[in-house]
Amino acid sequence: MRLVILGGGESGTGAALLAKQQGIDVFVSDAGVIQADYKHLLITHQIPFEEGGHTLAAIQSADEVIKSPGIPYEATMIKGFHNIPIIDEIEFAARYAKGKIIAVTGSNGKSTTAHLIYHLLNAAGYHAILAGNIGYSFAKCLTQSMYDYYVLELSSFQLEGIKNFKPDIACLLNITPDHLDRYHYSIAGYAKAKLNILRNMTPLDHFIYHTSDPITTQYLHTQNTLPQLHPIDPSSNGLFHFKKSNHAVAISKEQLPLLGMHNQYNARVAVKAAALAGLPSEAITAALPKFCGLPHRLEWCGAPQGIDCYNDSKSTNIASTTAALLSFSQPIIWIAGGIDKGNDYGPLLPIVRDRVKAIICLGKENNAIVQAFRPLGLPIEETQKLSSAIDSALSIALPGDVVLLSPACASFDLFKNFEDRGNQFKEKISARMQQ
Ligand code: ADP
Repeated sequence: MRLVILGGGESGTGAALLAKQQGIDVFVSDAGVIQADYKHLLITHQIPFEEGGHTLAAIQSADEVIKSPGIPYEATMIKGFHNIPIIDEIEFAARYAKGKIIAVTGSNGKSTTAHLIYHLLNAAGYHAILAGNIGYSFAKCLTQSMYDYYVLELSSFQLEGIKNFKPDIACLLNITPDHLDRYHYSIAGYAKAKLNILRNMTPLDHFIYHTSDPITTQYLHTQNTLPQLHPIDPSSNGLFHFKKSNHAVAISKEQLPLLGMHNQYNARVAVKAAALAGLPSEAITAALPKFCGLPHRLEWCGAPQGIDCYNDSKSTNIASTTAALLSFSQPIIWIAGGIDKGNDYGPLLPIVRDRVKAIICLGKENNAIVQAFRPLGLPIEETQKLSSAIDSALSIALPGDVVLLSPACASFDLFKNFEDRGNQFKEKISARMQQ
């Protein structure tokens, strides 16, 4: 068996390490430069690789190819491999996993929900690991230890080519427009990738989803074989009710130290997944209040001049910024912008009209935002400097108002990535606190 891996990033290197451990003849080929730490791992484990281009003959001798999730199935090179099965790292890794798989996908809330499920299992002493689209790849985790539970965050890119992968518990949080540039600007293609999570699930498995997500609910009506369904209503009150020896145990929203209705929904999904995994209600109620949320997701980062500032740099689409704006009752000075992945700002207009006092556009190209919101008559400022954006926001805000960085756009025009954008925001807010 000869395995060729296209892409030497986290998933490619993880797959290579797992293949090597399994005694498979493996070769890694990357069109770009392989990051130094991954290269070091390949060399240490004596895994042959090439970078800066693909040698077709070396790839065509493969019995199976694993492609990086970043390479679309429609890429010319991939289409050229007529007789070689092409799979993803998740598919490959799942062949070797013995424990239960809890998979989390959706347009927004994956990281938060997957972390919370892991937090609940881990706090109760379960032998669990968090992997996939965040932190270590699934394959790399399998080279280190065997776990009873794998909590996997999965992107649409990782689900596109699923053949036999089957989670025991799957959570599909929501399907709203994102990454449409990869799917010919069609939500159908993007949704198809997400719904692939159900592809091999059986009536013994569990599927947790959003009751009012029309794409998911319509899809479920068309299927003959379904896993056990656990719809979660995002608008219902209270977080979760357990039936325990004839009396109900309720977890209230006050027990969740996260802002916003969307996080209550994420928590209800996570609690359901943990309960289905066998966690007793006492363990859930004890651990839930200790979950602090993740950086860059509606993260409070200080209150210079009595103005609460929030870093929501991870918000790179309209649905996540909608969730952020709906999380505050105070007037908001909204810092938005960056690289627009095909946003339709229309649905944000009524929310911005009701809640936002001023918009600060922080991006190289701000036309789409300015044009969409100009009819509201709000003050709109434009800048390409984060410090000027913060100065403007703080000069407009009054004590008790909120300054919210929730860009609805990717960060690559002015920053390295969303972490860089969020970290710079936090540093500058903290510097304003010292003044
Ligand atoms: P993902 O891993 O899917 O990107 P994150 O948990 O990292 O999800 O959150 C990304 C962004 O989406 C953040 O701005 C966060 O506040 C927002 N968000 C989290 N959960 C939801 C949800 N259920 N619906 C809408 N937005 C959400």
